[in-house]
Amino acid sequence: MSEQFDLIVIGGGSGGMATARRAAAYGKRVALIERGRLGGTCVNVGCVPKKVMWHAADFAERAAQAHGYGFDLGSVEHDWARLVANRETYIERLNGIYERNLDKDDVEYLAGDARFVGVRTVAVGERELVADHVVIATGGKPSWPDVPGAALGTDSDGFFQWRERPARVAIVGSGYIACELAGVLNGLGARVSLLLRREHVLKAFDDMLSDTLIERMRDAGIDVQMNRSVAELSEAGDGVCIDWVGGGEPAHVDRLIWAIGRLPNTDGLSLEATGLSVAADGTIPVDEWQDTSVEGVHALGDVTGAVELTPVAIAAGRRLSDRLFGGRPDRRLDYHNIPTVVFTHPPIGTVGLSEAQAREQYGDAAVKIYTSHYVALYHGVLEHKVGSDMKLVCVGDDERIVGAHVIGDGADEMLQGFAVAVKMGATKTDFDDTVAIHPTSAEEFVTMT
Ligand SMILES: Cc1cc2nc3c(=O)[nH]c(=O)nc-3n(C[C@H](O)[C@H](O)[C@H](O)COP(=O)(O)OP(=O)(O)OC[C@H]3O[C@@H](n4cnc5c(N)ncnc54)[C@H](O)[C@@H]3O)c2cc1C
Repeated sequence: MSEQFDLIVIGGGSGGMATARRAAAYGKRVALIERGRLGGTCVNVGCVPKKVMWHAADFAERAAQAHGYGFDLGSVEHDWARLVANRETYIERLNGIYERNLDKDDVEYLAGDARFVGVRTVAVGERELVADHVVIATGGKPSWPDVPGAALGTDSDGFFQWRERPARVAIVGSGYIACELAGVLNGLGARVSLLLRREHVLKAFDDMLSDTLIERMRDAGIDVQMNRSVAELSEAGDGVCIDWVGGGEPAHVDRLIWAIGRLPNTDGLSLEATGLSVAADGTIPVDEWQDTSVEGVHALGDVTGAVELTPVAIAAGRRLSDRLFGGRPDRRLDYHNIPTVVFTHPPIGTVGLSEAQAREQYGDAAVKIYTSHYVALYHGVLEHKVGSDMKLVCVGDDERIVGAHVIGDGADEMLQGFAVAVKMGATKTDFDDTVAIHPTSAEEFVTMT
């Protein structure tokens, strides 16, 4: 006999948690099913542990710069195992908070693998649940290449399992995860090779960001290799030997990380039982309301292949519950102008269109670009100065800002407020009319000529 709910949510990650809790706040009877740890990718193997590691690498960078500020720290030792233990304790605390939040909100939490057994009927172990609405928020997983010996490498999930820092690491990939892990490992003392299939990183971003990032990574000691494709991995002592497509001297590293993209998690869901089929790339197709082709079945977050970010999954989920249960029929997520930060060293902040996208969309004549290259005051007293770069992409006679991009110290905390301005349709004159905050790096955004 099926148990009746108003909403069943499959997946207890960023999107699923947000959807379930918002629906419960409207007094609905909600079940949430999670097969792993609550919090999903972000909390357990994504944003949270990554940011902790980024802070550690940032700390190492500051320690190396301490001399310029009059400190003599001597040799600074780093205990990777202690950092990882502290990080995991923090994550366990978050897992507990997430479970208590579900309990507090009266969301029924079921641990286990969910699979469809009917259109809106879902089985978990021996239990069968039925609801008016089912939300699929099952996220994604790292993808692996089909090359001999691939299993000798690991992926970003595996990286978070490491209990010691390897001496030499190769990272394959050009996306934000590859670049972020390269920065973390380099900052914490590993010799890092970043292996790019072509000649760029972060290909969806403005060229200024990707080109500058490659320069900065090289300057920081990361060995960025272009036009490199792995043909095969084989064992070499405790490490890995890499053979290249096109031949050449094989390379030896202690560890190799595949960071070549992510795939949606739909395995085991038995989607055929609800009448859904996945797109060619494995994602679940949805419209702008997060509705699938089956009435009452919705999907959001990474499994839809939308912008793969935690706040996007959360925002989509909350708006969906507002619409379905909160009497707000027009609520849906606007996927334009979503700001994001890449936690590289230095970090990147970006919102809106790249210069190339703006030129394509509005035509060359309508686009005006402002740029700034500066050395942040922090670097003024240091021997080795690292520059920062900014770009504003404006369109039309009123120079509406359609893109704001920055790479440099502080970019990670700088862009949220500017993203509000861009979302509201701010023009270059609005930026010019805003009094700068001095001395900061952010002031460059309102003083560009
Ligand atoms: C290394 C890394 C770093 C990242 N850094 C950032 C960052 O800095 N900022 C940012 O915004 N985003 C970041 N992300 C992306 C972010 O983590 C995801 O966009 C976000 O977690 C997506 O949320 P979701 O709800 O769609 O899926 P997830 O958070 O992945 O949650 C899906 C959940 O569904 C569960 N599940 C799957 N199938 C089933 C099933 N059949 N039954 C029951 N449960 C199931 C899974 O166990 C999982 O817990 C990062 C990702 C990675 C991998």
